[in-house]
This record gives sequence, C-alpha cells and structure tokens, in this order.
Amino acid sequence: MRDADITPILQKSVEGQDLTVTEIEALLSAEDQSSIAQLFEAARIVKNQYFGNKVFLYGFVYFSTHCRNNCSFCFYRNSNKDSVRYRKTDEEVLELATSLEDSGVHVIDLTMGEDPLIHNNNHYDRLTELVKMVDDAVDIPLMVSPGAIPEHLFPALKDNGADWIACYQETHNEELFRRLRPDQDYNFRLNQKKWADKYGILAEEGIMVGVGESVKDRADSIDVMRKLSVNQVRAMSFVPQDNTPMAVNSPSPFIEELKAIAVMRLVHPHNLIPASLDVEGVAGLKTRLAAGANVITSIIPPCKGLAGVAQHELDIDDGGRSVEQIEAILDEIDIKTADKHEYIDLIESWKSSKKSGALS
Ligand code: SF4
Repeated sequence: MRDADITPILQKSVEGQDLTVTEIEALLSAEDQSSIAQLFEAARIVKNQYFGNKVFLYGFVYFSTHCRNNCSFCFYRNSNKDSVRYRKTDEEVLELATSLEDSGVHVIDLTMGEDPLIHNNNHYDRLTELVKMVDDAVDIPLMVSPGAIPEHLFPALKDNGADWIACYQETHNEELFRRLRPDQDYNFRLNQKKWADKYGILAEEGIMVGVGESVKDRADSIDVMRKLSVNQVRAMSFVPQDNTPMAVNSPSPFIEELKAIAVMRLVHPHNLIPASLDVEGVAGLKTRLAAGANVITSIIPPCKGLAGVAQHELDIDDGGRSVEQIEAILDEIDIKTADKHEYIDLIESWKSSKKSGALS
C-alpha cells in the first residue's frame, strides 16, 4: 500500500507554518522511498534556510561512567558488573578538554552517569567545581550532562560557566518511561529542562527511537519538545547492549531515527539537531546530515581511555571520531564547520532572549 501524500504537510512546514500532532505522526509514518526522500529534502531546505551548509562540532568528555541508576537500555547501569567504569582525574579532564578545544570543536560536553560519589549525600560541589575548572581552562562554551540534579544547582552551574544542560527524557510516554528508567521520577527529569530555562541555561532534550514506543509516542515527544524552551533536540536509535534487560530486544532500524531527525527539523527549524556518532560511528554521519542534522556529537579523541554513551568503543581508538576525520567526510559533501564565533554569537543571542523574557 502506498503512503498517503505528505506533500501538503511538507509544503506547510517549509512555509513556516506549525504542524499538528496528527501531521507530525503522518510524516513519521512515511514508508515508501519517494515519500521519505521528499521528507529529507524538505528537512534540508529548512536547515539551509536557517543554518546554511554549516555544522557545529561537540567534543565529548565522559568523565565518570559510574551510575546509581538502572536504566533498562544502558550499558552503564549500576547492576552491569561488566560495564566499563572509570572516573577521570582533574588533570585528565583538563587535558582532554583543552586538546578537544585545540582540535577545533565548538563545545565541550562534560558528561557523567549519576555517579553516587556526587549524586548521593549531596556532593555536588565536585560537579560545580569541575565545571569551573574547565571553564577557566577553555574559551569555548560548555555543555554539562550531569543526570537529574536538584534545582538549587542550576544557578551555581550557570555562574561556573555552564552554557548548556543536556538531560534526555528518552520518551514522553510516562508508562514507557517507568520501564526504561525504573525508580526515576518523570517530572523531576522533565523539570531539568524547565529549570535550565528559568535560570538562563540552554537545554537539550532527546528521545530514543525503537525502545517500544509507538509512532504516535514519537509525534507526542516532538510536540512536547516544542513546548519546552529547548534549543537542541536529538533522536538516537536504540542499540541493544550486553548485560542489560533490553539486550535481547531488536535494534531499531536506523531509518526510523533519520525520519525522526527530519521531522524534528521541520517542527523545530531554529533548533540545533545532532547527528550522533554514537550509533553507527562515522559511517552514519552523511545520512544524518542529509536528514537535517546540523551538530556533530560526540567527538572523542583517540587512545585516551574514553568511552561513548550508546556504544562504548565504536570508532574511538582508531581516531574515526576526531575532528580531522570528520572534516574529511564533510569536504566530500560540501558541508563546512562553522567559525567558532558564529556558534558563540548564536548561543549568546538565545541566552539574551531568555534574559529579556525573564524580565518581561
Ligand atoms: S542512562 Fe544515564 S542515568 Fe541511566 S543508567 Fe545509563 S548512565 Fe545511568
């Protein structure tokens, strides 16, 4: 059976009109090759309207892989005794952050699991001090991915140099959330994005594709993300991980992630949207950019003993996730990395609009 014609919906979004949830679901449901090609083309048109052929690069420092939680999909869940566990020292974090800056990334993303040494007994000073230490050492913006943290920490993180907070819900179906993130509070996690906005920090929200959600759930998520004041939205495919309850689940076909990226681009035209190297490595970069992504995450220096999030070894130690390798691929498709100041100007304009919104 052929898809329903999605041309009128695509036309509407290219003209800048808001889509309904039903229309978002119709786009995500596209199955035949010509409809999907039309969807990606519309997403590229919209991306080019707002961002031209420029992309931004995010360097990734996963500084602690310890975690108190037991997310069903995650290799770093507390009960996985065969996970890769480490905590980087201050010196190691500084060396990694400065070498990433030197390599040309636009942002350093400081990521950790909900490390019990920090999250239990309220030892958040370690986190805020680490952010300050890195902010003092580099001249580029910082993203912090600390897990779900108390509201009172947001002003301190901002004062210490955090430009972004990333905290992914993965789904906005609360029943599914409870299965994916057992014993975690849906609203406390959702509030991370609201608190970031309240205290003038930019926020990233994201979904995982292929974790048991329906297409309607994905459409609802894209709509919920539209209502949150977030400036970066990501979709990433579920990849089964050993020693997890979801190890036996089927991997998600990558085309579903690509369709989600394209629809997010149409619904969130001004936002940054990552092409994550964590799913297919550099082999999946061109398709994600062709679907409307304009940020490349997670760039990781080789041979530093660092892990990725979704796939802990993929393309890391052979240097495949370095800026040099990525720029060689971008040259083939005539996409350029933006100047460092273009990125800073963009996020500073977003931050000052939050300030003026707060005053009004
Ligand atoms: S997804 Fe994050 S919070 Fe959940 S187990 Fe993994 S590292 Fe911990």
